[in-house]
Amino acid sequence: MSSTASGKNGTWRNWGGNVSARPVRQVAPASVEELTAAVRRAREDGLKVKAVGTGHSFTSIAATDGVLIRPQLLTGIRGIDRESMTVTVEAGTPLKRLNAALAREGLSLANMGDIMEQTVSGAVSTGTHGTGRESGSIAAQIRGLELVTADGSVLTCSAEGTEEERALFAAARIGLGALGIVTAITFAVEPLFLLTAREEPMPLDRVLAEFDQLWAENEHFEFYWFPHTDSTNTKRNNRSAGPERPVGRLAGWFEDEFLSNGVFQAVQWAGRAVPATVPGIARISSRALSARTYTDIPFKVFTSPRRVRFVEMEYAVPRAALVETLRELRTMVDRSGLRVSFPVEVRTAPADDITLSTASGRDSAYIAVHMFRGTPYQAYFTAAERIFTAHEGRPHWGKVHTRDAEYLSRVYPRFGEFTALRDRLDPERLFQNDYLRRVLGA
Ligand SMILES: Cc1cc2nc3c(=O)[nH]c(=O)nc-3n(C[C@H](O)[C@H](O)[C@H](O)COP(=O)(O)OP(=O)(O)OC[C@H]3O[C@@H](n4cnc5c(N)ncnc54)[C@H](O)[C@@H]3O)c2cc1C
Repeated sequence: MSSTASGKNGTWRNWGGNVSARPVRQVAPASVEELTAAVRRAREDGLKVKAVGTGHSFTSIAATDGVLIRPQLLTGIRGIDRESMTVTVEAGTPLKRLNAALAREGLSLANMGDIMEQTVSGAVSTGTHGTGRESGSIAAQIRGLELVTADGSVLTCSAEGTEEERALFAAARIGLGALGIVTAITFAVEPLFLLTAREEPMPLDRVLAEFDQLWAENEHFEFYWFPHTDSTNTKRNNRSAGPERPVGRLAGWFEDEFLSNGVFQAVQWAGRAVPATVPGIARISSRALSARTYTDIPFKVFTSPRRVRFVEMEYAVPRAALVETLRELRTMVDRSGLRVSFPVEVRTAPADDITLSTASGRDSAYIAVHMFRGTPYQAYFTAAERIFTAHEGRPHWGKVHTRDAEYLSRVYPRFGEFTALRDRLDPERLFQNDYLRRVLGA
């Protein structure tokens, strides 16, 4: 997996290969001062500005035809404060670098998503999340933010500041790149801990019947359902007193590289070439993974390499609606002529207090549908989206969806709070792009 989106002939492309853009110029500032100067220059030239991370979003949220700000020189740890148990990092720092640096210091984030290639600013700006009963998204772990706004000023905010700073903090943790360019983020950290992961195949009917219990009994519960089958693979991560029992190198290579990436890639190629084989292959691949238990430090349990390229849609629905939504999705796949070779991923998050978080004020369950890169995904995603939106679903800001400001203002009670703040901070829409015009309105 490349860590940054490619940029041949000045063209910027995302990881999924479904979005590209041709910015007028690209800059990689090495300091907040250089970044501020780049923002001012763009404004003087009448150009829009967009900071990008590693291009892991499937929507055109990071695309710009103006000035593209690259993250690679704004990286590193600014400081660790053991009294407040926080770490402050430069916005362009890749999550994997943050995780490794924290582990060396005997520290960790509480929760994370399933990969760690993204930059911290890119990940939080779209609400990147993992799964958790009590612990929320990466943005929910933010304690402070620093950002450069459209007029070139540097603002800081936290939950403890003035009313204005608190309002900014509520919105800017998941800012969609619309409020300013984040330059540094302060995260809550904890002493490094161990997680025991239990991965276990389970029939879908049983997972759905016991979902509330599986969720309640585990700190981090998630599962993958293999369409065209009644099979899932469940994963339960819980804190553990140890001892550390990592996945052995050979077993790890076999499960995580050979089966989950190598064989999986070949299966995807076969399914794309001959779609009729997909249900049969799905039945075989759903049986390929066996139960296993291991204990390791958090990022080694939460994240794994994803080398098979895909395109993804993900919606958050009220957690109480998960079982019904998933049953409808299964019925839809069974009745359609669709051939879906990628598992459906299900995770949860507790309600949080971030204005445009998919879990804002609502206990949530996430349902993610994927298609192998290069396979037509529109029919599947359109049918899935119809089901998700009937349950007041909120789309992941960084994953394919077709929602606009009118719909989003109905499913986000605090939508107007965000757009009012944007009107104040960026009245001339320096940070505008087509995606933001669609989801936030002009
Ligand atoms: C293989 C894969 C696995 C994934 N797994 C998960 C997962 O487990 N959970 C999940 O929720 N999502 C997941 N995603 C989605 C991904 O985490 C998000 O799309 C994330 O936003 C990508 O981060 P990035 O660094 O690539 O940012 P980009 O996609 O490059 O940018 C995303 C947004 O952040 C903004 N941005 C970037 N830097 C700044 C800055 N300094 N200031 C202001 N705005 C900024 C951009 O303008 C844009 O709006 C996955 C994606 C892929 C491809």
